[in-house]
Amino acid sequence: MTYSSQLSTVGWNFEDTYCQLPDVLFGDARPVNFREPRVAVLNHALAAELGLSLDDLSDAAAAAVFAGQELPPGARPIAQAYAGHQFGGFTMLGDGRAILLGEQRTPSGQLVDIQFKGSGPTLYSRRGDGLAALGPMLREYIISEAMFGLGIPTTRSLAVVTTGETVQRETPLPGAILTRVAASHIRVGTFQFLAAQGDKANLRALADYTIARHEPEIAGSAQKYLDFVRAVIERQAALIAKWQLVGFIHGVMNTDNMAVSGETIDYGPCAFMDVYHAETVFSSIDHGGRYAYRNQPGIAQWNLARFAETLLPLLDADEDKAVELAMEALSDYAAIFDRHWLAGMRRKLGLTSEADDDRELIDELLEWMQTAEADFTNTFDDLTEREQPTDGPYVDERFQVWYSRWRDRLNRDGATTDSTRALMRSINPVVIPRNHRVEEALAAATEDGDLSVMHRHLEVLSSPFERNEASADYRTPPPPGQCYRTFCGT
Ligand code: AMP
Ligand code: MG
Repeated sequence: MTYSSQLSTVGWNFEDTYCQLPDVLFGDARPVNFREPRVAVLNHALAAELGLSLDDLSDAAAAAVFAGQELPPGARPIAQAYAGHQFGGFTMLGDGRAILLGEQRTPSGQLVDIQFKGSGPTLYSRRGDGLAALGPMLREYIISEAMFGLGIPTTRSLAVVTTGETVQRETPLPGAILTRVAASHIRVGTFQFLAAQGDKANLRALADYTIARHEPEIAGSAQKYLDFVRAVIERQAALIAKWQLVGFIHGVMNTDNMAVSGETIDYGPCAFMDVYHAETVFSSIDHGGRYAYRNQPGIAQWNLARFAETLLPLLDADEDKAVELAMEALSDYAAIFDRHWLAGMRRKLGLTSEADDDRELIDELLEWMQTAEADFTNTFDDLTEREQPTDGPYVDERFQVWYSRWRDRLNRDGATTDSTRALMRSINPVVIPRNHRVEEALAAATEDGDLSVMHRHLEVLSSPFERNEASADYRTPPPPGQCYRTFCGT
């Protein structure tokens, strides 16, 4: 059965600009046939932003579209090549279980990738099956949409469909496909893929393409490749600062999982911290804590150094000069990250001016939180909403001393209580996707076929700064001592 008459009105407006790049960068790919695709979740708000109207599609037609069984007009499905440092070790990779369907030109003129994840093997699958399980795909849907709600640059999730087939992991699991929307899927590892082959002409082509797509304002610059390195550094520093400010831990910051666009990408073993601890790691495979919360800013810098290295041949014909230029750009990273982080932390504490001892004030709060095992999100929420709390973890001399010091600092700012609170409310979320609640939603969906728990959660996460009856229910941290682990075997 085909749905072509229904599909002609969806509003696809595809381009295939990536296919104009050197063909070492991709290969043709085709979603496999799935017996019985069914829609698990559709993102109607995102669809509207993309200029797609899904409302008139029957469930069966929507399932056929988002399982890749009915390709949109203009689609030229490909898998993209890339390489990457995975936990420090370099490997040649590629989309092993993802297929780029095409690039949608949105009504506002943006160009975004529409990509399937879990739609079957590609030429880069190696020994993998190219498939994905329902739980992890819904998890990516929930966390990426939560990040969007929090105002953090991220790939988005347009749909999850079940395939009607099982995928074999440690146990058989229901198979699913996620449709991901991204500014692009160009990774640090995409540049590494070409650099590893010493392919300067192709590197230039990829750099020019990426600049045109993401940094058009520097396309005419006399030193555009250096400006490009600087722009990518700026975006990553800003992004990682945002992660730190909400306690988001990516979990697998390999260079293939770092998008040059500055969007958060590849939600695998990621999670948000409940209790504050700088060493927090969730991923079961991250034994050394390489990607722990406190290491994220430094790891991003390491990844950016790998990125800058790939562009050395374009920075200057003289190798020493090229290295010098790259080093200079990279040496600014720490200060840029700091500027973003400090500005964000000041807002989280309602500060409108800058004082020399602000960093000390912030560090003292974080140290207290760590010792007192206080909840990161709720502490900032309590500081926002409550007058000098003295219960629970706040029954602590050290906190009370800190609190007085903070109030003195606020008084020096001279802001009114109302304006301070408004500022803090604009940056301190009431709700984050807490692991135990995410897991509860996934269990209902995958074990009982009940998607209502996830929909309720998604609703609250779409406006995380709003305080209402529904959000109150999602503020509660997990029972103390509950140790959360996420798994990469997705
Ligand atoms: P990730 O850890 O999810 O970022 O994936 C690392 C690499 O492994 C990427 O190149 C993926 O495309 C590939 N990969 C992950 N899972 C599978 C799978 N089930 N089948 C084929 N390739 C996979
Ligand atoms: Mg990845």
